[in-house]
Amino acid sequence: MNALRECMSALHPQAIEGMKLFNEGKFFEAHEELETAWKDETGEVRELYRGILQIAVTYLHITRGNYEGAVKVYGRSLKWLKDWPDVCRGIQVRKFREDAELVMKEVEKLGKDNIGRFDKSLFKQIVWNAAEDGGESRKIWVCDRCGSEMHEKNCKVSCPNCGNRFDCSDLNIYFD
Ligand SMILES: [Zn+2]
Repeated sequence: MNALRECMSALHPQAIEGMKLFNEGKFFEAHEELETAWKDETGEVRELYRGILQIAVTYLHITRGNYEGAVKVYGRSLKWLKDWPDVCRGIQVRKFREDAELVMKEVEKLGKDNIGRFDKSLFKQIVWNAAEDGGESRKIWVCDRCGSEMHEKNCKVSCPNCGNRFDCSDLNIYFD
């Protein structure tokens, strides 16, 4: 997988919707939007969407006191989340993974009998920095280091925030 290439592009609109719902604690609705993004997306980033949607389902199980369901779905999510850079399409993936890990440590500590006492303040928000495309068809580059929108000029792409730069031809990206 060329994670770098996959990560330097804009998010699917349904993925953004899903993450907003996730951050409102609406895990069921979040899962539905992310599933649409997962089905609709043809690039490998779809698997990142799948991982996020499985965390939404994990959290849903926790809120419903379903210990086994939470442990099972979390276990499945790991392989979809592990291979991405710290920031992908502006999403703070590493932070997201670490937040979910802390949630599951607490769930395992509580165990099946006490999962009802789970402290929901441990559900942290997904942080992302989405480049808006303003309805135009121009290509958006999202820095894989810091998540900022990058500037492109004559195929030279640079990040105004951290100085990350590359030549668009290096990435072999096809413009629609
Ligand atoms: Zn940057």
